Amino acid sequence: MTPAGKLLRWYRTHGRKLPWRETRDPYRILVSEVMLQQTQVERVKVFYRSWLKQFPSWKTLAEASNAEVIHAWAGLGYNRRALMLRDIARDVCLHGVPTSEDAWRRIKGIGPYTSSAMSAFAQKKRTLPIDTNIRRVLGRVLLGKPFPELSDDEMIGSHADSFIPRRGAYYDVPQAIFDLATSVCIKNPDCKSCPLRNDCKSAKQFLEGRVKIPKRSIAVTHERKHRNKPYPDRIYRGRILKVVREQGQIGIRELGPLVDPNFNKILDQIWVEAMVGRLITHALLSRRKNILTLPE
Ligand code: SF4
Repeated sequence: MTPAGKLLRWYRTHGRKLPWRETRDPYRILVSEVMLQQTQVERVKVFYRSWLKQFPSWKTLAEASNAEVIHAWAGLGYNRRALMLRDIARDVCLHGVPTSEDAWRRIKGIGPYTSSAMSAFAQKKRTLPIDTNIRRVLGRVLLGKPFPELSDDEMIGSHADSFIPRRGAYYDVPQAIFDLATSVCIKNPDCKSCPLRNDCKSAKQFLEGRVKIPKRSIAVTHERKHRNKPYPDRIYRGRILKVVREQGQIGIRELGPLVDPNFNKILDQIWVEAMVGRLITHALLSRRKNILTLPE
């Protein structure tokens, strides 16, 4: 049996049942993909359902205002994703649903991973949307690298055609790899329980204890932090948006203490205003004189 065949057999027993795996509707799949970009699966499940209740189709979403989508996205974070999703819906309503990976890629806001994921999951194309999960599993299996890096993606992608079967449930291969990556082929993998242990070029190294497992995640984030603040700015921007969403409107000078208990009028007001400016630039806030609201 091929490695992909073993993987698919394992997936039929161990794969997660997720609502977006029960559909080929490109709209629903795109909603899940955008939500999953920065949010955990369990959390996405809840928001996915409520989002689809409010915006069941491309058209309903395309017609929504900025304020409506920002309200509906509340709690998911990285709010620009909500506007981007709405803008994609507008594009699809104007030009139709793309039918190829290249066509998805031409839509503003859709990158190489998402265009490949849309082709694979909505249109059953033989393609590998390479994210950190697929990179980790296939980098280990095919390249023998215990901790593959971004620069390995091209090499991993070049194996896609021979790794993905031509018949059967070939379209489930990426989802099967995701599930293996989150349950078995984790940072410190459980190679003994892995369906690919006899095919994997890294298995021996792990099983013989020859791989040093890094304590921290290899990915390093360089998020901006202001002076002595404990969190990066994006957390405070999220709080600003939450205050405006909940209060409807607020004066910019009242905002500071509501988003930071240690707010210092002299040292932090410019910082808060800069974050407000950024939210305005991204169409997430409106400012009239000193009053902030959600944009129409
Ligand atoms: S054998 Fe080990 S390293 Fe290879 S894919 Fe399976 S869990 Fe990952």
